[in-house]
Amino acid sequence: MKTLTKEQFCDRAVKLCNNVLEDSDLYVNKFEDESFIIVESHEQNDLIEKLLNKYNLLDLLDFHYYDTITGFYDEYTTCSDCCEIIKTSPDSYCWQPDFILLECAIVCKKCVLDNKETYLDELIEEYINDSSKAFNSELFSIKDLLDDEWKTDDKVYQSGFHVGMDDNPEEIVSNLPDNKDFVFFVTNTSQFYVEFKILTRLNN
Ligand SMILES: [Zn+2]
Repeated sequence: MKTLTKEQFCDRAVKLCNNVLEDSDLYVNKFEDESFIIVESHEQNDLIEKLLNKYNLLDLLDFHYYDTITGFYDEYTTCSDCCEIIKTSPDSYCWQPDFILLECAIVCKKCVLDNKETYLDELIEEYINDSSKAFNSELFSIKDLLDDEWKTDDKVYQSGFHVGMDDNPEEIVSNLPDNKDFVFFVTNTSQFYVEFKILTRLNN
C-alpha cells in the first residue's frame, strides 16, 4: 500500500476541503517544518476528518497524523512576515512567547532573529515607559539592550505566590525620577512566580 508523507497528506487534505467547500479558507502553513492547518471550529475539524475518511486518506497513513496537523485559531496564528505558524497559547509553566506583537503585526522568532536590531528598536518604541509590557528572554537577552544609554543593576524583582514576592511594576516606576525612561525585562518564568528586571536611561 502506498504511504503518504505528512506533507502530501496535508496538501491533499486541504485540496479536498477546498474542492468540496466553495467558501473554505483553509490553508496549509508551516509549523516547526511540518504542514499544519488552522481551523476555526469543531465543525470544520470534523469536516476535514470526514473528508479524509471518505477519500480513504487516513487508511494511507502509517499512523494517525490527523491529530497533529490541525489546530484552533485561538491557539495558533500565522506570522505577518513569512506566513509560518505561530503558537500563541502557553503549553507549560515556563512558556514565554517566542513571537512579538506589534501594533499591526505579529512576527515569528525566525523573522525577529533575522532582523534582530530592527525589531529590537521597534520593541523599545512599543514598550518604553509602559509598565504593562516587557521583553522576555525567549527572543532577546538583557545584553542585547544594554548600551551607552540603557543601564540596569543587579536587582531582580519577583511577583508570585511565595511570601515576599509582591513586586509591582507600577509601584517600581512610580519611584523613578522624572528624567528616566524605562523598559521591563522578564528574566524567568516558573510555576508560581515570575522574575523581572528594569532597565533605565536618561530621557532627552
Ligand atoms: Zn516569520
